[in-house]
Amino acid sequence: MSEIRAVLTGLDLLTPGSSAADEFDTETERAVRAFQQSRGLSVDGRVGAETWRALDAARWRLGARTLYHAVPEPLTGEDVRSLQERLLEMGYDVGRADAVYGVRTSRAVAQFQREMGLKPDGSCGPHTMRVLRRLGRKVVGGRPQWLRESDAIRQAGPTLVGRTVVIDPGHGGTDPGVVVPDGPLRWTEADLVHDLASRLEGRLAAAGVRVQLTRGPAPKSCLPDPERAQLANSLGADVFISLHTDGHPNPEAEGVATYHYGTDNGVTSATGERLAGLVQREIVARTGLRDCRTHAKTWELLRLTRMPAVRVEVGYLTSPTDRGRLVDPRFRDRLAEAIVAAVQRMYFPIERDVPTGSIDVSTLRAAVAAGRVGAG
Ligand SMILES: [Zn+2]
Repeated sequence: MSEIRAVLTGLDLLTPGSSAADEFDTETERAVRAFQQSRGLSVDGRVGAETWRALDAARWRLGARTLYHAVPEPLTGEDVRSLQERLLEMGYDVGRADAVYGVRTSRAVAQFQREMGLKPDGSCGPHTMRVLRRLGRKVVGGRPQWLRESDAIRQAGPTLVGRTVVIDPGHGGTDPGVVVPDGPLRWTEADLVHDLASRLEGRLAAAGVRVQLTRGPAPKSCLPDPERAQLANSLGADVFISLHTDGHPNPEAEGVATYHYGTDNGVTSATGERLAGLVQREIVARTGLRDCRTHAKTWELLRLTRMPAVRVEVGYLTSPTDRGRLVDPRFRDRLAEAIVAAVQRMYFPIERDVPTGSIDVSTLRAAVAAGRVGAG
């Protein structure tokens, strides 16, 4: 009896201490009816076997126990349903939020863990809960377009061969972007990011990717962002990567940041956010640039592209530290390799994902040369 009342109190259907703990009074009966109604059970105000099972499942709050794919009797409960709803909001494929922790939920959890840099074991314990809590309600992405993006990625398989990647070197033409005089030299963002785009193009092409740049090295005019997005859409691109360097009046501002589509009130592209996370982590691990993290923005370039799209600011041209690195062609090679590794990881299934910084980009080339498809 007290157990039933505890569950009902936990669900806010009963006021704590409203009646004696061992008494099934009218208060309790009313709460049971409300509960039955909310769960689609027959409403009789009595706790029979079916209502008891539903009450038993309802007492689990997300985070109160570790959830995992148990066989043959799967775990069920309100905590499972809450988790499934969160994952669905973020664009992960759990099927229906049926409160049953089956294989599909476990796979979705593993994918989430992988994208958040956790061990992808498919069970939801304290570490995964901490990351979910930290995200709060910030990450939602259940829009049909974003679910299609996730599906397209999932169905694509691990190979990069035949994918289309649009690389967008920022600025160009009359717009040089950030400009920094350096003795007799003059470094411009537009030139540096175009050089980086070419290095990236070469490596992706070697891995079998179709690559298109949004501009040449010295265009007459600067293509506006909506037209760059339109170009990527018309090519049916699988991934869109915009390259920039940052600038700030304070020369101490330094580091790399990656941006994906999202709003302040928490709407985001799940696949865009995932790609941003991978790009950011690979670059930080492989180059040592300061980690200025990933951020959600509603910029037209990110909003109008119909594929996972990111804009990465690969360091501050105004920072002597970052600039010293960026003007070194070998450093730009490392940046290009980091981005290739991130794009490859977008397509790895959960069980084949690898630690950040571990993909040897030259083996992608070798695999293609040997006629093997993908990074196997
Ligand atoms: Zn820029």
